[in-house]
Amino acid sequence: MTTQLAPAPLAATGAAPPADPFEFHRWFTSARSQEQKRLIARIKRFLELVMADQEFRLALKEHPEQAAELTSRRGLEVDPHALEPLWRQGFTTIIPKADYKRWPQLGLWCQWVRDILKYRDLLFLAGDPGPGQPAFAKWRGRRAAANDFLLGPRNKAIVYPVFAYELSKGCSQGCWFCAFAAPRLEAVFRYDRANARLWNQILETGLEMMGLGAAQSGFCYWATEPSDNPDYLRFLEDFRRVNGMLCQTTTAAATRDPAWTRRMLALYDQEIRAVKPRFSVLSLKMLAEIHRLFSPDELLRVECIPQNPESILYKAKTGRAARDPQDRWRQEYRQRKNEQRGESLAGEASQPEPPLEAPDFGGTTACVSGYLVNMVERTVMLVSPCQASARWPLGYRVHAQGRFDNAADYRAFIARSIAEHMPPTLPSEEPARFNEDVAYLEGPPGPVLRSRVKAMGLEAAGPAYAPAAEMLAQGGLSPSQIMGRLMDQGQSPLEAAAVLGHFFDMGLLD
Ligand code: SF4
Repeated sequence: MTTQLAPAPLAATGAAPPADPFEFHRWFTSARSQEQKRLIARIKRFLELVMADQEFRLALKEHPEQAAELTSRRGLEVDPHALEPLWRQGFTTIIPKADYKRWPQLGLWCQWVRDILKYRDLLFLAGDPGPGQPAFAKWRGRRAAANDFLLGPRNKAIVYPVFAYELSKGCSQGCWFCAFAAPRLEAVFRYDRANARLWNQILETGLEMMGLGAAQSGFCYWATEPSDNPDYLRFLEDFRRVNGMLCQTTTAAATRDPAWTRRMLALYDQEIRAVKPRFSVLSLKMLAEIHRLFSPDELLRVECIPQNPESILYKAKTGRAARDPQDRWRQEYRQRKNEQRGESLAGEASQPEPPLEAPDFGGTTACVSGYLVNMVERTVMLVSPCQASARWPLGYRVHAQGRFDNAADYRAFIARSIAEHMPPTLPSEEPARFNEDVAYLEGPPGPVLRSRVKAMGLEAAGPAYAPAAEMLAQGGLSPSQIMGRLMDQGQSPLEAAAVLGHFFDMGLLD
């Protein structure tokens, strides 16, 4: 394909983009012509293979003169030379900076991705229950703020949904890297009369208690594979009826029953108010099968996430990936680092082992800041994403857990969890300390608060920050005791209260 296209016309329209995420989605997709979308779909497919297939990536980089042949041999309908900044020096990002006047197809693609990222940001904002549930809204905000400090840039990709509903117990796929260490599939929640009634009541309770935006942020899987449940699409239809939109489906079994996958995709094609589905790609063979079964246009808004061993993506070291007896996480990590450093596969074995990102655990794939519900076991947990650790090996914290037999129990659990775990301000008489992932360090260049990815200079922040941080790092004192000591040191009460309030709002206090 050699069509030269100007970048998408959105910026030129002058109209303010809609704030509602689904309206924004409609706006930015309809602003592209069919020809533009056709090209975007083919660039997307090209990138799926670049990201998934190391052999292809390296061949493009090492033999750029063969790029057209390498691309067409794989059935890809793009002119790779129109997209050179994506691959010429080795793949690093899906939105490289470049002179888009010189690379108009790349400009078209990058503007598309930026609109998707903006849409993602709007989904995060839409999930806020706001004044209807103020304590929860503040708590969710603190969880997101904490992860800005604890997870760093990867936190931008988390939209903090408020509900996740599991419709099975366990998962049939058994991925070695399963971040949530899903057990083997044991049971599914069938759509019989009693279950359908309970399901609808649970959805309605979530909607009543948290409001529409938060209810719409939910989705119907977690440590489960949606297609394991033969009635998944019926449950999804109920979700749409109660919440007025279709929530996202992520499946790692897109090729297991293509007819099921087509039925699922058809639901999303018919619904404008929908968070589009995703395919987890477990092998290059699976990616080839996905590409054979579904055209680039059919998958324009279906994200394919390359989880296969040859992928460029790093996996979080959580759940089963952190405890894999074959240590595949380390092998993949080493392979990706070597590729980043410009070494070929052949040179891999001779390289010294690079330092690991984390000795035991690291990262997270969790997203929910709210309620994780298992409909088979009738359990509910209040959870939030965190840096995986020995204490939280699945990459999420469990703040509270309970069981329900009916919607009244479920409602009571939510109300109790808000009352017990979401104080609107820092409780003054209970001992307070920093989250375990936060360290207070002294000395040069001065006292700092540090996570694995960020540091905060305390002297520059204000005179009360360092002494307050030191006491919060040691733990054992309540905020009112800390305030007393700060005032003994000559700090004003206002300054002392402001510092403690700031750490609380940053979500760093346990
Ligand atoms: S990663 Fe997903 S598909 Fe794989 S075992 Fe875990 S829950 Fe199942």
